[in-house]
Amino acid sequence: MRIIATVFILISLGLASGVSSAPSVRPGSPQAPPASDDNPFFKPSGTPFNVPPFALVKNGHFLPAIEEGIRREQAEVDAIVDLPAPPSFENTVAALDHTGIFLSDVNAVFGALQSAHTNKELQALARKTAPMLAAHRDNIGLNEKLFRRVKAVYEERSSLKLDREELFLLENTYRDFVRGGALLDETQKAKLRELNQELSLLTVKFGENVLAETNAFKLVIEDRADLAGLPPSVVAMAAETAKQAGLEGKCVFTIQVPSMIPFLQYSEKRELRENLHRAYFMKGDRDNDSDNKEILKKIATLRREKARLLGHDSHAAFVLENNMAKTPDRVDAFLKQLWEPTLVKAKQEAAELQAMIDRQGGGFKLASWDWWLYTEKLRQEKYALDDTALRPYFKLDNVRQGIFALCEKLYGLKFIELPDLPRYHPDVQAYEVREADGRHTGILYMDFHPRESKRGGAWSGGFRRAYYEKGTRVPPVANIVCNFTRPTADAPSLLSTDEVETFFHEFGHALATLSSQGRYRGRTVARDSVELPSQIMEHWAFEPELLAVYAKHYKTGEVIPAGLVEKLGKSSLFNQGFITGEYLAASILDMAWHTLPNPAEVDVRQFENEVMAAIGLIPEIVPRYRSTYFTHIFSGGYAAGYYAYIWSEVLDCDAYEAFKEKGIFDRATALLFRKNVLEPFGTEDPMAQYVRFRGAEPKIEPLLRNRGLEVKK
Ligand SMILES: [Zn+2]
Repeated sequence: MRIIATVFILISLGLASGVSSAPSVRPGSPQAPPASDDNPFFKPSGTPFNVPPFALVKNGHFLPAIEEGIRREQAEVDAIVDLPAPPSFENTVAALDHTGIFLSDVNAVFGALQSAHTNKELQALARKTAPMLAAHRDNIGLNEKLFRRVKAVYEERSSLKLDREELFLLENTYRDFVRGGALLDETQKAKLRELNQELSLLTVKFGENVLAETNAFKLVIEDRADLAGLPPSVVAMAAETAKQAGLEGKCVFTIQVPSMIPFLQYSEKRELRENLHRAYFMKGDRDNDSDNKEILKKIATLRREKARLLGHDSHAAFVLENNMAKTPDRVDAFLKQLWEPTLVKAKQEAAELQAMIDRQGGGFKLASWDWWLYTEKLRQEKYALDDTALRPYFKLDNVRQGIFALCEKLYGLKFIELPDLPRYHPDVQAYEVREADGRHTGILYMDFHPRESKRGGAWSGGFRRAYYEKGTRVPPVANIVCNFTRPTADAPSLLSTDEVETFFHEFGHALATLSSQGRYRGRTVARDSVELPSQIMEHWAFEPELLAVYAKHYKTGEVIPAGLVEKLGKSSLFNQGFITGEYLAASILDMAWHTLPNPAEVDVRQFENEVMAAIGLIPEIVPRYRSTYFTHIFSGGYAAGYYAYIWSEVLDCDAYEAFKEKGIFDRATALLFRKNVLEPFGTEDPMAQYVRFRGAEPKIEPLLRNRGLEVKK
């Protein structure tokens, strides 16, 4: 295994994303006696495409399998350390890349369930295994003899005649050791182990609290008058939610995004909008058992200590060393450049919304819980466009077919549904992906709707990465997990335009996983380049030529009318001050936490307010995530990395220009993108890959145009 990332997960901007791997006992690896006869992790899976044996996995199987996985990986590593032969690339670096397959197969399933289908037992198990796994990673990362072998190869690298991919693996393996503390003395190493133990537990707890807080709130409506303003489709959805909660005959809105947003968009009941929105943005900040304030301060403090131990000024400096941006100063300057025009736009938008409130005799000052409602009204007024008119054209199944059609046009890929493939929940759909010539590419799982066992947001990961085993490709198993609008009693799942975009986004991550031609299991993707494959997909979502293929009315089959498409295009910059503003505010908050010298001493609310006041955020906009439920940065892998979406956007906007120049379905451009970006993703320096695709480094102008942030000269 590579020391840093064992399980891969990539979170969407809306909320998080990652991949991990299937059970196999490798020839030559130390064999272990099966711990129990019925534990499916200890046997060949026997499933089609060697997917995980979901149907057989019980909660009780994880702990023995993880313990055994740790034991096996340690034995594999010891075998490398004990080799009498002098260290070489093959016997040390490539061999190390090949260790820990059993453990990552188990962890892939465990991690996926923890995020997408958890329960009390699994949560308790995560609290038990997180420190075990952290200690195990340290046992490898701080293994002195192992590091000596890696270092010996690293120091000889210029004379080893390694190819690009080998050299990249070697350099990153070495760097991972250094970043994992291999150069520290014994006292420092002991301290680092302690910090990693504590952090592993705190980050698990943070995520658990957010889930508990999300499930704790329900807005139950019994009086029909309280449904004022809500379209029938939204009422039907709330009735369905009530039914599932055992409250048949009533309406229930939750603070899961697909339930909350439609209420905020349409409800005429201002105090109910306030109740709901407050419950959302006060998650983890209610001074109850699930409060995250002390936990996040502790996380920030320990991360800082760890960074200092490793020779960096702050956790942000430690993280950014590995990213394209390199330093906190460059990130701050980049965000500032975008923030200024964004704030101007956001203020204009707030003024327009206030004017509308005044015109209608509202008699109140615009607040965050009013933003969605008046934005919908204004969208109606300016573009005669509203969400409920669009949704019928975005039936989930049709959008999925549209994405499949796009992938076939660009890359020749075909998707074959596998209704009988084992899955971890009946809602999950499974597909085989094939090349144009029929070769197997990989397996894709998709899990679309919210449930109480799933955390919020959308992400992509998987159960196995592609790599090569004795010259043969081991095909990947990718997944995407979303929280899209549920079907109701009389309508299928009809997506909002945001959800359509998210679907394209997550699919782009999965496409990178599926297309991968990496020879090794280890991947190093700069966090701020990881959104290139995902975000470039968003550019196609509302292209008229693609809409004509998939945006068909769910009842009549009628293709979305040209007039509606035109309005959609014209309104693309509408509300961008808000959308970009709430995102940038959260990115700035992330950087503030991870460069703060004394996180233990601050008051969380006050600190957040000060950071927001310093940039002049208007009170009508709440940062996309407040600190207490900012799972990307306090329990996911995006600490000092939430800015990565918009940094990557420089790449994807510039990259999409290539398609616009040559035609959006141009096969030759798609092939260049696939060969230079998707297939070798994570096996080479991202800028070098990009330049091979595009012929030049990316320019920022396409991004500014795309967001309407150009400075008028
Ligand atoms: Zn993403």
